[in-house]
Amino acid sequence: MFCRIVAGELPGDVVAETDTTVAFRDINPQAPTHVLVVPRAHHRDAAELAAADPALLSEVLAAGIAVADQEGVTDSGYRLLLNTGPHSGQMVFHMHLHVLGGEPLGGMVGGAVKSPGKS
Ligand code: AMP
Repeated sequence: MFCRIVAGELPGDVVAETDTTVAFRDINPQAPTHVLVVPRAHHRDAAELAAADPALLSEVLAAGIAVADQEGVTDSGYRLLLNTGPHSGQMVFHMHLHVLGGEPLGGMVGGAVKSPGKS
């Protein structure tokens, strides 16, 4: 699914782009700022990306930090989140970095794990 947003075949509320990444707003935001940063290249999750192309993982993280700045949450603070594998509740299997902020985010973990979805 995120491949299709990257390709422009599905609409996405894109907030930033680099040569290697696309950032768009989460369709079901969990905080006032909730942006997803995805690599243009398809990788299933962060572990697969780290093994295949660690430089690209670094670019995704840098893009997330830049998005946080663009969203004005650098000083108030934010969370960068990489759900990876079943126990994390990862639902979309195209690696994506969550950028969350804009209000106090509460505890680190909690809530039910959702069912797996499609990439
Ligand atoms: P995860 O649980 O880490 O796999 O997160 C997947 C995220 O993708 C969820 O927060 C969803 O709300 C979000 N999402 C699913 N489909 C779309 C879409 N078409 N556009 C934007 N965000 C989406």
